[in-house]
Amino acid sequence: MHLAKGNYFGLSGAAPFRHLIYPIPSQGGLGVHLTLDLGGQARFGPDVEWVDHEDYDVDPRRADGFYAEIRKYWPGLADAALQPAYAGIRPKLHGLGEAAPDFLIQREEAHGVPGLVNLFGIESPGLTACLALAEEVGG
Ligand SMILES: Cc1cc2nc3c(=O)[nH]c(=O)nc-3n(C[C@H](O)[C@H](O)[C@H](O)COP(=O)(O)OP(=O)(O)OC[C@H]3O[C@@H](n4cnc5c(N)ncnc54)[C@H](O)[C@@H]3O)c2cc1C
Repeated sequence: MHLAKGNYFGLSGAAPFRHLIYPIPSQGGLGVHLTLDLGGQARFGPDVEWVDHEDYDVDPRRADGFYAEIRKYWPGLADAALQPAYAGIRPKLHGLGEAAPDFLIQREEAHGVPGLVNLFGIESPGLTACLALAEEVGG
């Protein structure tokens, strides 16, 4: 298992956007994209930080990389506008520089335990794919 932490930074103040923005994907992630929550508040992320243990603190020093990425599509982003928000960890089956494998679904034939279904590597777009995964496992 390889752990790719994804950090998010929030924008203080209003964003000039009314829709999501997805830049070109980066190695290991979708790129630092813009998400708007239901209250219209803007959040940027996730980046990709390979880690060897679980730690959900957002290091404020990572903001430098965010300013650089975001200014590629929003040059007007003001200094000091970003605040650490939260982090998640993508449990990946592949490491840095390796090709991304498909989701891995293991049933009794693979591990010998009746009734147990392992779902490994269900990272992005795992949430988008969750209904299809449920059909695959339950069907
Ligand atoms: C930074 C980041 C960005 C992402 N972006 C996207 C995206 O844009 N689009 C997309 O489709 N997917 C995205 N994903 C992936 C998506 O979040 C996952 O694929 C999805 O959440 C996996 O669902 P799950 O139910 O398998 O696992 P989880 O959502 O992790 O749920 C597992 C649950 O089990 C609980 N649990 C763990 N161990 C135990 C235990 N021993 N006992 C009881 N409970 C336990 C946990 O607390 C958790 O609630 C992203 C993930 C991350 C981390």
